[in-house]
Amino acid sequence: MLQIGNRDLAKYPFLAETGEYLRDKGFKIEQLDHPDWKPIMEKAYGRIIVATTGQIYGSDLKKFENLDTEILSFVIAIILLKSAGMNTLIKRFSLAEARRAEKFLQQDLHYGKDDTKLALPLKIIHDLFSVKVKIDGDNFVISIPDYLRRAIHFHEKEWKLVNRKVEGGFVFLTSHETVRLIRRELDGYINSKIQSLNTPSIPSSFKERVTDLVILAKKFSESTTVSTDYPPCIKHAIEVLERGENLPHSGRFMLATYLMAKGQTVDQIAPLFKNAPDYNERITRYQLEHIAGSSGKGTKYSCPSCDKLKSENLCFEIPECNGIINPIQFGKKRTSNA
Ligand code: SF4
Repeated sequence: MLQIGNRDLAKYPFLAETGEYLRDKGFKIEQLDHPDWKPIMEKAYGRIIVATTGQIYGSDLKKFENLDTEILSFVIAIILLKSAGMNTLIKRFSLAEARRAEKFLQQDLHYGKDDTKLALPLKIIHDLFSVKVKIDGDNFVISIPDYLRRAIHFHEKEWKLVNRKVEGGFVFLTSHETVRLIRRELDGYINSKIQSLNTPSIPSSFKERVTDLVILAKKFSESTTVSTDYPPCIKHAIEVLERGENLPHSGRFMLATYLMAKGQTVDQIAPLFKNAPDYNERITRYQLEHIAGSSGKGTKYSCPSCDKLKSENLCFEIPECNGIINPIQFGKKRTSNA
């Protein structure tokens, strides 16, 4: 039977084994008012703050002094989030934790070929997402149905089945691609775990941080205006960013120019990019200001045409697009009998 230790749980604290491990070690979540919990609570709060900035918390285990504290900080972070009751923060936290776990899964798959590390990531992928991954030389292979069910959400050419190596009903992947394929499910799994947990009532020493989280969450929901009237290309770009996936430069340009044409400011648009894997606040703002014409030569850029977006694989046309030539026109042009 696979032994899961505190090192594994520090990487994957959302596993069911975490509760059992902490109970065996004598940690009692019911006694949160003990002063010993205060530093862990502050660590947990910091973990949430890191997640809200789009960064990945503690992806280098060598820097941790105490692995048990790291595991506990995840558990306490959930308690703080549930006590604050702000879904926007829970969403950001679960996505950040999914991306963190993704890094460890990829490392473990990569190094695992030489040692026993391989068993745990394969078990996680199988137990949590019902995907059986097999090893073939340097590759990871999964069945075509398992691949297609997930790859359907990706629009880049490299994910099309015709562009993959396929043999005997199996698709060949790198460790990065294997893990990338389950990112959405990992995020969903962590999110549902958080949502379903019954958390204890918190002591007064935690309340100040819970209030801080409520204030922080309000800032997020005020800063970004996402309309249901956006065309599908724009909705798709926002969804990609919300999932923490990479939106190509052309997609970011389309999104920024569209929102600016709709009257949104750099301050309103910038938070949309916070979950991007390569997010850098300074560079994002610089690029947005450049597109808005408030820096550089002062040229204000326009939203690309539908034809251009089609050629860049950014178009997800629906009947309501109705022959428009630019996403800006979406919702304005109607059929004559409408
Ligand atoms: S047709 Fe135009 S507006 Fe509609 S999804 Fe494609 S690019 Fe966007």
